[in-house]
Amino acid sequence: MDEIETTLKQLSEVHGVPGYEEEVAQLVAGLMSPHGEVLRDRIGSVICRQGEAGPKVMLAAHMDEIGFMVHHVSAEGFLRFLPLGGWWDQVLLGQRVIVRARKGPVPGVIGAKPPHLLSQEERKKLVELKEMYIDVGARSREEVEALGIRPGDPVVPDSAFTVLADGRRYMGKAFDDRVGLALMVELLRRFAREPHPNTIYAVATAMEEVGCRGAKTSCELVDPDVALVLEVDLCGDVPGIKPEESAIKLGGGPSIWLLDARMIPNLRLRDLVIDTAEELGIPLQFSAYTGAATDGAHIHMHRSGVPTVVLGVPTRHIHSHAGIISREDFDRAVQLAAAVIAKLDEERVRAL
Ligand SMILES: [Zn+2]
Repeated sequence: MDEIETTLKQLSEVHGVPGYEEEVAQLVAGLMSPHGEVLRDRIGSVICRQGEAGPKVMLAAHMDEIGFMVHHVSAEGFLRFLPLGGWWDQVLLGQRVIVRARKGPVPGVIGAKPPHLLSQEERKKLVELKEMYIDVGARSREEVEALGIRPGDPVVPDSAFTVLADGRRYMGKAFDDRVGLALMVELLRRFAREPHPNTIYAVATAMEEVGCRGAKTSCELVDPDVALVLEVDLCGDVPGIKPEESAIKLGGGPSIWLLDARMIPNLRLRDLVIDTAEELGIPLQFSAYTGAATDGAHIHMHRSGVPTVVLGVPTRHIHSHAGIISREDFDRAVQLAAAVIAKLDEERVRAL
């Protein structure tokens, strides 16, 4: 495992659902601190400042992952839970989870009725999250309480980081957006060695999956001149997705978001990214969504406006227990983002 692979594994496996981000925040602060001054905003976002002069370049990647919160324990010892972030209910049944109880982590499974007991009607029906429960192997509310579990405890997907067959593809949970965080850490490492004509503010934002909350608060602290949002992107190269829905391919290069539900990127910054990719011979993929948004939603509307663009690393099976990314895409995204940042001097930023 090289340094990047180790960082991706650490960031993928660490726990941190929206609002319960302290563990991932500690890890991120530790990864950032050798490369700049580390600050926090008051809702938990972690900010690393690197450099002293020139325009303020904000890099944003959200550190929260989608998960759940326990809200009820039944007399029989089953946990009812609410989603934190956008789950598709169908990917949940039968999955392992970890309840972060006050006495320590408690493993469990999202219960599903065995097929043997399902009627023909039931087999065709989707089960909604509100009908599901978590089973930690307890037989009563008292047994659950003895494990230290109570309403308000966060619940995290249980999924180990795995290197796939060719050694260049990775599978794991929370790639949205721990891959963006790994990109950000790698950029800080790189710019600790190379001079850059600006001050980098690398921001691990809190609570993106419940409405881009940390982007709003951290922007107040950073007050950026220009911003790059480092994200994942949806892969369209799996069965059931038409090319016109998504043409993004795993291993096809990093992507740039041309449009999403809450932001149209700054066009000059967008073109700077496209031209830079062309100069470097990096294949760049294009995506556009009306049903997705990023931290850019808040950042680009900060004060009188901040030129902002979103870069993505193509990811299969986003918002599930196991996404898949390609190492080539990651490395090219680092290369592209680094080259764009290196160009963002006073004059260039003023012209955006
Ligand atoms: Zn995301």
